[in-house]
Amino acid sequence: MIIHGFNKTTLLDYPGRLACSVFTGNCNFRCVFCQNSSLVLEPEKEPVISDREVLDLIKKRRNILQGVCVSGGEPTLDPGLRDFLTAIRETGLPVKLDTNGYEPEILRALIDDGLIEMVAMDIKSDLDGYAEIAGIDRFCPERIEESARLIMESGIEYEFRTTVVREYFTEKTAVGIGKWLKGAKVLHLQDFRDSDGVMVPGLHGWDREHLIQFRDILRKYIEKVEIRGTDAG
Ligand code: SF4
Repeated sequence: MIIHGFNKTTLLDYPGRLACSVFTGNCNFRCVFCQNSSLVLEPEKEPVISDREVLDLIKKRRNILQGVCVSGGEPTLDPGLRDFLTAIRETGLPVKLDTNGYEPEILRALIDDGLIEMVAMDIKSDLDGYAEIAGIDRFCPERIEESARLIMESGIEYEFRTTVVREYFTEKTAVGIGKWLKGAKVLHLQDFRDSDGVMVPGLHGWDREHLIQFRDILRKYIEKVEIRGTDAG
């Protein structure tokens, strides 16, 4: 697997666990608010860390770590993902996979084969607005719908998460997501923060009142909806 980043210890990437995080490059989306645009657009220019080296470090630290988060970019595009996850499984550490959900068949195989214990899937928008945010031609919403469905039915731990951008997220978006994911267990709202590496510069987050309003709309449909990164809860 081609690894472009390795965070030896984090409490943020795998809920409730002291984990390490591995970052792959490349992505099949071009999200307007992507914070990792260089990793997505020009992964060949990013430094590479040997997967063997990363695996050795994880093995050495397996008594300290409580999990491994595999993120990106989009990890399901890397042909070495399965072998990497198989090697992690031998350490006994659980894996959380971060994905945009656009490769449902790969996701299904990883779940069916017991190679991941948790999935975090980005929900970019309601289905009507998805193509505009994902930024790709011939966007196929059925692939996203299938991934969301299989995650909800899989029985493994999961969370959905949505970045809230003022220019793209309205009450209608919240209602659309809620109706689509009705019955889901967890959705985290993350307010957008502008930074140097953003795909499309000049976007904005929402204020606290709007975030709370969106959260409350979504709570009518989804068991647990929380706002991350603010004290709005
Ligand atoms: S936000 Fe995620 S899914 Fe979107 S382009 Fe960036 S890495 Fe890909």
